[in-house]
Amino acid sequence: MSMVSQVPDIKLAYLLERCTEVDGCLLWAGETRGGRPTATIKNKTVQIRRVVWSLANERRLDPSRCPRPNCGHALCVHPDHLDEEERMAPFAGVSRTIDVRARISATLRARSQVDESVVQAIRASDEPQHVMAGRLGLSKQYVSRVYNFETRVDYSQPFAQLRGPL
Ligand SMILES: [Zn+2]
Repeated sequence: MSMVSQVPDIKLAYLLERCTEVDGCLLWAGETRGGRPTATIKNKTVQIRRVVWSLANERRLDPSRCPRPNCGHALCVHPDHLDEEERMAPFAGVSRTIDVRARISATLRARSQVDESVVQAIRASDEPQHVMAGRLGLSKQYVSRVYNFETRVDYSQPFAQLRGPL
């Protein structure tokens, strides 16, 4: 008994009949559930991508993994466009999401470490902002925003905001 026999008995032709080919993608035109391509076979909901993945890879996909389209089409079921991902991953871009989160918190941490004397130095300096940014290990955008009083405005000094560059 091959591993594929554990996969719901769906013929490739059945699947392909229910897809529209668009730009090399196979977009599922059948039913969906929670935004995922599904079919109802013998009163059971079958995840089409899981079936396609299993047919293409000749093995069952580990239940903790999920096949997700990497082509940007939420309904694509093309076997070459499916990546295995952790089941809990909410979107195809989850690894990027984590990366973005890490970068945002690193940036916020770096900013909060910029103490007031550095802020004053940025505003008092005649150095070009990109030179200053490089020297201080800050982003050019951040230095520019500090310089232009768009951030790190000291509200304890009500007139500080008015002392922007002339
Ligand atoms: Zn695709």
